[in-house]
Amino acid sequence: MLPPIALVTRMDEASEQDWLDRLAKAMPGETIRPFRVLTSEERRLAEIAIVANPDPADVAALPCLSWIHSLWAGVERLVAELGGLAPPIVRLVDQELSRVMAEAVLAWTYYIHRDMPAYRKSQQNRLWQPLDYRHPRDVTVGLLGLGALGTAAADRLTGAGFKVCGWSRSPKVLEGVETVCGDDGLRHVLATSDIVICLVPLTSNTRGLLNAERLASIKPGASIINFARGAVIVGDALLAALDSGRITHAVLDVFEQEPLPADARFWGHDRVTVLPHISAPTTPETACAIVAANVHAWRDRGVMPATVDRDRGY
Ligand code: NAP
Repeated sequence: MLPPIALVTRMDEASEQDWLDRLAKAMPGETIRPFRVLTSEERRLAEIAIVANPDPADVAALPCLSWIHSLWAGVERLVAELGGLAPPIVRLVDQELSRVMAEAVLAWTYYIHRDMPAYRKSQQNRLWQPLDYRHPRDVTVGLLGLGALGTAAADRLTGAGFKVCGWSRSPKVLEGVETVCGDDGLRHVLATSDIVICLVPLTSNTRGLLNAERLASIKPGASIINFARGAVIVGDALLAALDSGRITHAVLDVFEQEPLPADARFWGHDRVTVLPHISAPTTPETACAIVAANVHAWRDRGVMPATVDRDRGY
C-alpha cells in the first residue's frame, strides 16, 4: 500500500474538493487526502504533498515529505513562508499555462498597440479622433523574463510581427528575438521598448526591479504590462511616472495586495487598466496530468522533477 499524498491548500472546501476529484482521476492508483482529514499516522507517512498557498504549519506537520508539488507556477510565497529547511519545491511548468499567458501577452499588447485606452477616452469625451497606425514591425516589445512564460510570449509576439527584445538572468538564444542580460541589458530593453512586459519571478533580486530610477530610464511614452507579481514594480514610482505622462499606460494584472483595496489609486487612474490576476490561470486538467506524471516518475523510478533553486528564489 502506497503512503497517502497530502493535499494542502487554503482553498474553500468546494474548490479543494474539485481539485481532489481531478487529482484522484488523474492518479487512480494513489490515495490523495486533504491535510485536515489525515490521521497522525498518515501525516507521518506522507512522502509527497500537493499544495496551493498552504498554511506553512500544515506542511511542517508532514515530517517525512520528500518533495512538494505546487499547483501554481509562481512560488515566491511558498519559498518565503516554508523557509530553507522545507523539502524541495516543484513548481507547475505547463505548456498550456504558457499558451494562455502568451495569448494574454498578445491580447494586451494589441490593446496598447491599437490605442484602445486612448479611443476609450475619446469616446467618453465624444471626440472623433483617429490616431496614426503603426505597423508591428515598428514597435519593440521588451520582455523582462524569458522563462517558460516569457519564451512562449516571445514566440507569439514575433509571430504577430512585433520586434521583441528579451531580458533574462543568464544569456539566451531565441530565434528572431534580441536577447540581453545583466544591468546593461536591462538598461537597453528599457530604453528601446515601446511596451515593457514583466514576466520575471518575484525574488530578492526582482523585488522593486522597476523603481523610480529605472522607470525614469524607460523610453518616453512607453507603456508597461505587469503579468508577473505586483512587487516587481514600485507602485508609487509607477503612479508618479504615469501622472507625469512619462509612461503612457500601464496594464496591471498583479498587485502587492490582492484583491486590490478599494481605495487604491490604480483603480481610478485614467492611464491604468486594472485586471484581477487573470492573465494566466492554472488549467486544472493539464495541471493534474503534469502532477500525475511527476508523481508517477517518482514512484516508478525515484526521479524527482526539477525543483526550485532556493538561492536563486525561483
Ligand atoms: P521561469 O520559467 O522560472 O522564468 C523566469 C525568467 O525570469 C527566466 O528567464 C529567468 O532568467 C528570469 N529571471 C529571474 N530572475 C532574474 C533576474 N534577477 N534578472 C533577470 N532575469 C531574471 O518562470 P515562468 O514560468 O516564466 O513564470 C514567471 C512568473 O510569472 C512566475 O514566477 C509568476 O510570478 C508569474 N505568473 C503570473 C501569472 C498571472 O496570472 N499573472 C500566472 C503564472 C505565472 P534565466 O532564464 O536566466 O533563469
